[in-house]
Amino acid sequence: MNTSYWLAQTAAKHYPKLQADQHVHIAIVGGGLCGLTTAYYLSSITNNVVVLEADTIGFGASGRNTGKLTALHGAKYVLLEKHHGGDVPSIYYQMQKEAIDAVEGIIEKHGIACGFERCSAITFTTEKENVAQLQDEYQCCLDHQIPVHYLEKSESFVKMEAGLEMKHQAKYDPYRYVLGLADVLTEKGIDVYEHSPVTSLDHKENGYELHVGDHCVFAQHVVLATQAPIFDHMGLFFAKTYPEVSHLAMINTMFESNAMYINIDDPLTSYRKIDDHALLCGGYAHPCAEMNPKDENQWLNDLKKRFTVSDIPYEWSSQDWISHDHLPFIGPISKKENHLYVAYGFGKWGNTFANIAGKLICSMILKEPMKHHELFACDRMSSLFTTKSIKINLETVKKLLMSKVKTLQDLSSSNVRVFTMHHHKYGYYRDEDGQEYIVDLTCPHMGCTLQFNEVENTWDCPCHGSRFTCFGEPIKGPANTALSTDTDVLNSIDPHIIK
Ligand SMILES: Cc1cc2nc3c(=O)[nH]c(=O)nc-3n(C[C@H](O)[C@H](O)[C@H](O)COP(=O)(O)OP(=O)(O)OC[C@H]3O[C@@H](n4cnc5c(N)ncnc54)[C@H](O)[C@@H]3O)c2cc1C
Repeated sequence: MNTSYWLAQTAAKHYPKLQADQHVHIAIVGGGLCGLTTAYYLSSITNNVVVLEADTIGFGASGRNTGKLTALHGAKYVLLEKHHGGDVPSIYYQMQKEAIDAVEGIIEKHGIACGFERCSAITFTTEKENVAQLQDEYQCCLDHQIPVHYLEKSESFVKMEAGLEMKHQAKYDPYRYVLGLADVLTEKGIDVYEHSPVTSLDHKENGYELHVGDHCVFAQHVVLATQAPIFDHMGLFFAKTYPEVSHLAMINTMFESNAMYINIDDPLTSYRKIDDHALLCGGYAHPCAEMNPKDENQWLNDLKKRFTVSDIPYEWSSQDWISHDHLPFIGPISKKENHLYVAYGFGKWGNTFANIAGKLICSMILKEPMKHHELFACDRMSSLFTTKSIKINLETVKKLLMSKVKTLQDLSSSNVRVFTMHHHKYGYYRDEDGQEYIVDLTCPHMGCTLQFNEVENTWDCPCHGSRFTCFGEPIKGPANTALSTDTDVLNSIDPHIIK
């Protein structure tokens, strides 16, 4: 994947790979914001905790996001009122507010240098026809005592028709924050392992056995903080959420305002200043496996048109899972597996939700569940039966079927090919040194045929968002095993057959 600005700015700290079997009270799978925050809250009770990260700390969405910490999530409060009613908008607001304060508290307590700064968050529209939607959101906020100010049409640099401002929100460098959390954990005696992917899990009498390469971790409680759950246990998580990829870029430009912006228009765009000469821009979301060089250029050209850009030193993409009923899933994966926890579906607002999830899971492990935990119950079905969910799930089934019968993907690079043999699709990739790789394009998660992402050189699943390197190694769940290679298949393939 392309390098994010945050990852490029700060050197990674290196943690060891798991080298021996371990028995622990709690195992956390995933070293992003969610896994590390959960470990952080648990650390005040026990250090009998281990964190297992497949790649490096902060390698996932946590090191690749816009770094906003806010309770103003676009125009979300109307959606929450519609899907859940009652006090849910005000509960949601209160939880987000407390999460920002809690992150600030952790940063201050441990001296984590991550540029945390309070500022306003603004949701706006530049389209006259979307002003009514913003007014509805404003009314909903007033009804639930959520503190926002209505902004009239302005000729400032974003040329908004209308906007909503929430004061005293915050921004930070999310990668430096996760690295800081990992430091605190190791100081507290918690083992953090990198390059230690969990590939399978067995239920045992007193807990779970996790398989990590040649080693096992035995734990009474397991937290899957892998962004997309790598085990489903009939939770149907793949159908309760959808993955969405967005582009991000750091551009060198002058930006007057210190506030953070997000619009409600199409395409959705999001901005926040890094310093007086650097602006972080995000947006142009699309389903997974639909990244192509043309769209990438369009996005960069639009940025150049909108701002006076002297340079675009960093551009990358990131993805997150969005729940159809607009609340994430946090808690035991099922009633039966009540010591196996998941936390995901943060809908691109995980900087605050990771904090909420960490506190919630910690409270559940302590058998003193926090107030409102039931809102995030993993077995709730409300996210399966929305109009959007039914539409997206039908489209996913269609994508799965079409991926089996569709003609081969048309690719511009001669270093990549998709070919069929024995009614099966394979992907061929030749790297810069001429080394050739052939992988089976059947996604190990649910069997969809993968497509090549020419912008980031990855094999991507159009159905559920799993991603693999061009050599077949998993980089995004829900799939958690590598693709079969030509050496794994019965009729070993000669790479030269496709030349
Ligand atoms: C474009 C974009 C912009 C965003 N901007 C914001 C923002 O401004 N504010 C905000 O609040 N949120 C934002 N988000 C959302 C936020 O980035 C995510 O919700 C959050 O980072 C998720 O954290 P996580 O720890 O769950 O996942 P991740 O950070 O992805 O961590 C999961 C970790 O699990 C590891 N893993 C996966 N499988 C395994 C395995 N089998 N074994 C071991 N480890 C494994 C991965 O390598 C990864 O490091 C944005 C998201 C996107 C896509």
